[in-house]
Amino acid sequence: MSRIVVGADMSQSSSIGNESKGGAAFLEMVLRQVKEAVEITNAGDDVYEVLRVPKRTLTVSIPVRMDNGEVKVFMGYRVQHNNARGPYKGGIRYHPNVDLDEVVALAMLMTYKCAVVDLPYGGAKGGVACNPKVLSKSELERLTRRYTYMIYDIIGPYVDIPAPDVYTDAQVMAWIMDTYSQLKGYLTPEVVTGKPVYLGGSEGREEATGFGTALGAREAVKHLGLNMSNLTIAIQGYGNVGYYAAKYLAEWGGKIVAASDSKGGIYKPDGINVSALLEYKKKTGSVVGFPGSKTITNEELLGLNVDILIPAALERAINKDNADSIKAKIISEGANGPTTPEADKILREKEVFIVPDVLANAGGVTTSYFEWVQNLKREKWSRSEVLSKLENKLVAAFKDTLAYTKRFEVDMRSAALCLAVDRVGLALKTLGVWP
Ligand code: NAD
Repeated sequence: MSRIVVGADMSQSSSIGNESKGGAAFLEMVLRQVKEAVEITNAGDDVYEVLRVPKRTLTVSIPVRMDNGEVKVFMGYRVQHNNARGPYKGGIRYHPNVDLDEVVALAMLMTYKCAVVDLPYGGAKGGVACNPKVLSKSELERLTRRYTYMIYDIIGPYVDIPAPDVYTDAQVMAWIMDTYSQLKGYLTPEVVTGKPVYLGGSEGREEATGFGTALGAREAVKHLGLNMSNLTIAIQGYGNVGYYAAKYLAEWGGKIVAASDSKGGIYKPDGINVSALLEYKKKTGSVVGFPGSKTITNEELLGLNVDILIPAALERAINKDNADSIKAKIISEGANGPTTPEADKILREKEVFIVPDVLANAGGVTTSYFEWVQNLKREKWSRSEVLSKLENKLVAAFKDTLAYTKRFEVDMRSAALCLAVDRVGLALKTLGVWP
């Protein structure tokens, strides 16, 4: 006989209630940055009053029949921060540490990321506190479909469009699309992005984020009056974002001399063949041991004498303990939140030009937007069409952000947030408060 387990063991991936797991400090940091941007841009107290809280927060408890017959309840969230500029948009994260504060902070960041790139979207985020690594595929499917059912009333193609995030992928998006479509009664691919290409996903999505990170570095090179063909580059985190950033930077003449993953790093001053390294990593599980390279640690990689550094691994990788060792002139942040505020201050003092994450990794959400437009119009664009539209959008966002650095005499990170707050604030003020 099956039994219902509430508040099951966290190692088995469930959490009940909303005890904070670090999300509160993260939310506090985001709010502080937004307040600062509101003050710099003079957007006004009313704008901050609206932006400091999400418009809607939904908490659901998701019962799932496990393979062994037991029922487990998982906590899930969907937070809709602001929709003044368009439907809510944001990923869904499956992770044991998901808590409401974290999801709220991430939803806020989506509002600003979409605004920086001038997408007609607001910001949202979802999450389920679970450990997908210990769930079977069928448990994951039942969890996803039940979660979709429980947030069904507040998502939709013109309301809120989810996407993948940490530990959710194209398969999870396909289940969300199918569940929503079954409930609606007709196929609705435009309810979610990040789907497989053969089910309405967009060509070019796989490389979009890394391509955007490379574009961020390329625009910084141009802005600083440098020439890419003389520059050396280190990539921290040779995964999806890191590999594609490396690929495009090498195509544009840069020399990739170092790369790393969770197992360690490599240094090859005469240059790394990026596709050979990808093949090597696929075969052996790591970049370490790549023929002709010297093995280094991730810390050593950060301190190498290179021109461009691409952090494309984890959050908080650049912190107060290693920021001072960094010699790169340009950092383009492929990862989300790779630089802590303390490290950011040190790097600013060293006059490192940082292309912040909201801009440098916005290629993903921008291509999600292209996927949604293709779905709504029942069109299919080619890879080159997608990448060329993406390049136009990101280069424009880089220039807009740069203009704000001059207008308010701030660095690129503050400028991006000021630009976003200005755009969202203008929409809010024009729409007014009804009734
Ligand atoms: P991924 O899993 O494909 O790659 C991550 C890489 O980082 C892996 O090679 C892993 O081995 C490496 N890594 C892990 N720990 C490390 C450590 N301590 N030191 C060095 N390397 C380490 O993930 P991804 O999709 O490339 O995402 C990377 C980052 O970019 C994440 O912060 C993610 O949130 C962010 N991001 C990704 C996308 C996207 O479209 N994929 C979009 C926006 C932001």
